[in-house]
Amino acid sequence: MISMASHEDLIEDNLLLPHEINNQRNRKVKATFLHKIKAFFVKNWKIILLLFVILLLISCTIIIPISILKDKTKNISSQCDEYGKKIVETALKGTEAYSRLATMCTLFGNRLSGTQALENTIDWIQEQMINDGLENVHTDNVSVTHWVRGNEYAHMTAPYYKKLNMLGLGGSISTGGINITAQVIVVNSFDELDQVQSQVPGKIVLFNAVFTNYSSTVQYRASGAVAAAKYGAVASLIRSVTPYSLGTPHTGGMYYQDGVKQIPAAALTLEDSDLIQGLVNFNKSVTIQLYMEAQTLPNAISRNVMGQITGSEYPDQVVVIGGHIDSWDVGQGAMDDGGGVMVSWEAVRLIKALGIKPKRTIRVVAWTNEENGAAGGQNYAALYKNETFFSIETDGGATTPLGFSVTSSSKTLSALSTIAEHVLKPIGSTSVTEGEVGTDNSFLVDQGVPGAQLVTNMTQYFWFHHSEGDAIDKMDPVQMDQCVGTMAAMALCIANFNGNLP
Ligand SMILES: [Zn+2]
Repeated sequence: MISMASHEDLIEDNLLLPHEINNQRNRKVKATFLHKIKAFFVKNWKIILLLFVILLLISCTIIIPISILKDKTKNISSQCDEYGKKIVETALKGTEAYSRLATMCTLFGNRLSGTQALENTIDWIQEQMINDGLENVHTDNVSVTHWVRGNEYAHMTAPYYKKLNMLGLGGSISTGGINITAQVIVVNSFDELDQVQSQVPGKIVLFNAVFTNYSSTVQYRASGAVAAAKYGAVASLIRSVTPYSLGTPHTGGMYYQDGVKQIPAAALTLEDSDLIQGLVNFNKSVTIQLYMEAQTLPNAISRNVMGQITGSEYPDQVVVIGGHIDSWDVGQGAMDDGGGVMVSWEAVRLIKALGIKPKRTIRVVAWTNEENGAAGGQNYAALYKNETFFSIETDGGATTPLGFSVTSSSKTLSALSTIAEHVLKPIGSTSVTEGEVGTDNSFLVDQGVPGAQLVTNMTQYFWFHHSEGDAIDKMDPVQMDQCVGTMAAMALCIANFNGNLP
């Protein structure tokens, strides 16, 4: 009986073909190898798992961020780094922003819409822009509100006499050629006014609302007169919209409402507002005598003024940077917003002086009439909305720049943030957050143009805002240079952006 022969027997007996012998050997070798690997894994599984985890961590911490960064920076021009750094470096060595602002404030003073001083300033800017070698320097006519202050005063006549430092609010009517003399009723809010409405007829209402932040507190300046007039007040006063005072009243725009009687409106100092409040707290009857000649004349013609560096590849796509050239009729409008105009203008001049040719046009605009009408911003948006690629306004005092607040898609915001990280670290102005873009800019942004506002350290801004204190002595050349570098580098990197903004 022949049993089944083993492979070895067959080999030995030479009964297998040569290639079958080789296959058989290979299988044996393979089986042994697989067995060894399996044994290795079983024995060292902990080490292998650890190595795997380490590899995973490495890929998470290095490879993934690199790929994200690559994706984030793919639209940012390679020239952004080179030119941006050059711009920042040059700006920090010193610019002409402060000296130009000082010249403007000294030669022309404050610049309320409708005044010759504003128009003379605009002529001077236009002339200087041409001297700087900017292109397409021109002005566009804008019909603006023409409010004039005239003579004005306020006195406390009871319980004792005191001259009150006051400023009529922009847009207010006069007291009709007479003194308005009436008892004062003090409230701290609109709610409080509602509660005492029966006592309001024939009185002067003083809104003594302590400054919390500008947007909350400014409502008493803007619409206090309407609220007081609805209950029969003869005039409306406000505690100035500022957190700090050296006896200075602060003006600003106020508005009437159709169908509500117009009454004169003015601002008192924090000191006098607290004094009147204190007397009322002692149950003293306080009487104020108010005289104002304020009136609104027929509209005047003012102008937006602008100049540019025309883009080398996309001349019809414009990156706008600017501020407003008008101011209130007190102080010099150095912080608000002469400084903003100067740092924007100097940013464009600096790019030009460095011989940098941006791919898109970079245009500096000085908008007119921001303070009492914003007709300049509206006019600009109506004319140039379609060509505006991006728009940056600065109207926060041109003090230490912190970054930008942006209204755009989140991807554009993220691109701007990457640009800031790339080039603005030496200045420290790398904060890019979602937020408001400024009044003049808002007319572009409301129509879908992406825009931003330079964010500055505004700790002391409202101390001087709209007061006699807003003069050149409050400005700092180094801080202005930092604003120039920030505006110029950001504008250049946006102008050289590869492709459309995401
Ligand atoms: Zn302003």
